[in-house]
Amino acid sequence: MSEFEQELAERLALIREQGLYRELRRVNSPQLAHTQVDSRTLLNFSSNDYLGLANDPVLKEPAIKGIERYGAGSGASRLVCGSLAPHHDLEQAIAALTGAEAALAFSSGYASAVGTICARLRAHDVIVIDKRVYACIVDGARLCGAELLVFAHNDLDHLAKVLRWADRRNSGLSGKRRPRTLIVTESVFSMDGDFALLRDLVELKEKHGAWLMVDEAHATGLYGEKRRGLAEEFGVAGQIEVQMGTLGKALGSAGGYICGSRTLIDYLVNRARSFIFSTAPVPAAAAAATAAIQFVQSEEGQARRNQLWARVDQVKNGLIAAGLVLPPVRSAIIPWVIGEEAKALEAAAALRDRGVFVPAIRYPTVARGQARLRLTLSAAHSAADVSQLVSALSPLKPGPEVPSRRA
Ligand SMILES: *Cc1c(COP(=O)(O)O)cnc(C)c1O
Repeated sequence: MSEFEQELAERLALIREQGLYRELRRVNSPQLAHTQVDSRTLLNFSSNDYLGLANDPVLKEPAIKGIERYGAGSGASRLVCGSLAPHHDLEQAIAALTGAEAALAFSSGYASAVGTICARLRAHDVIVIDKRVYACIVDGARLCGAELLVFAHNDLDHLAKVLRWADRRNSGLSGKRRPRTLIVTESVFSMDGDFALLRDLVELKEKHGAWLMVDEAHATGLYGEKRRGLAEEFGVAGQIEVQMGTLGKALGSAGGYICGSRTLIDYLVNRARSFIFSTAPVPAAAAAATAAIQFVQSEEGQARRNQLWARVDQVKNGLIAAGLVLPPVRSAIIPWVIGEEAKALEAAAALRDRGVFVPAIRYPTVARGQARLRLTLSAAHSAADVSQLVSALSPLKPGPEVPSRRA
């Protein structure tokens, strides 16, 4: 073994020792309630395909048409010659869905967060994030070079304290450009399924003259009268400077988006490096996402959403009866916190033996000692699927940690 590999092998051994080793599993079917993993068919409760759209003809047919008309690849970045009609149609559809002035599609949600945060903030600014935000927000916060401050999950008193500190710090700085503070949170937290306190966050950011960016990755298409997301449900969408979402979860396709004012979007086209220096999303993905946005706004989309919530209620009732403490809010993400990494792996293996596929989520996706089974529900599940899940889970004992203090 070369020294290059020797060192990597040592690091891998350390990862294994901590119960944190990860490996890929080959899935031999589309995203379905019953998914073929390696050579077995397992009941899948780990997908983010909440509305069962990823393999639906409602998306597949427009994707195929998109390929036939515009090709398999986009050929270049958007600013060179890859800004194809399906991208423009998609951005119009996103803006119409969210009610924002304008929208910009990125190749992934990860790229949306990193590119936008880095475009907006400089080294003398402050970025304030909830302790439990997703990795792409943390990476954007680190990469942008601004002063990074973290507040305890959904803890408004702590946030107020952090903002007072930021105000003092900012007013003590002199220079041509006034230092700014950006608060970034998810609306529905990806690993806990609880909600950000968006109304209070808006109130606080206005009091402090800060800005707010909200990642609706697990809420777009699912919440609000017009399926715009949790900000719509809480009536605060108009007061959020930067709204972000993904196209690969409830919307069943792939990609990410930012929406907001026309000025924000024009600025990102000029300054978001993950947008500028990346090949445009493939036409099939853009066409599928546009179809998904139209679908979630339709009556059929509403029926699909009702079906999802019926399954969520069914599984939550079953788990609460088994003694699990769950956030009181309704989301398609249900955390079963186990704690120790090795125990979570054992639980996941035991579930696989019972025909249920729920991978263990471990550090660094969640904090050390907070390993969990992250159950996700889909409108594609039947009532019988959920009953099978609940009985497969019942021999497990709920972990010591309560997933979230507040909702
Ligand atoms: C999945 C996810 C993303 C990343 O989106 P991709 O399109 O998968 O890159 C961003 N934010 C949150 C909260 C997510 O859960």
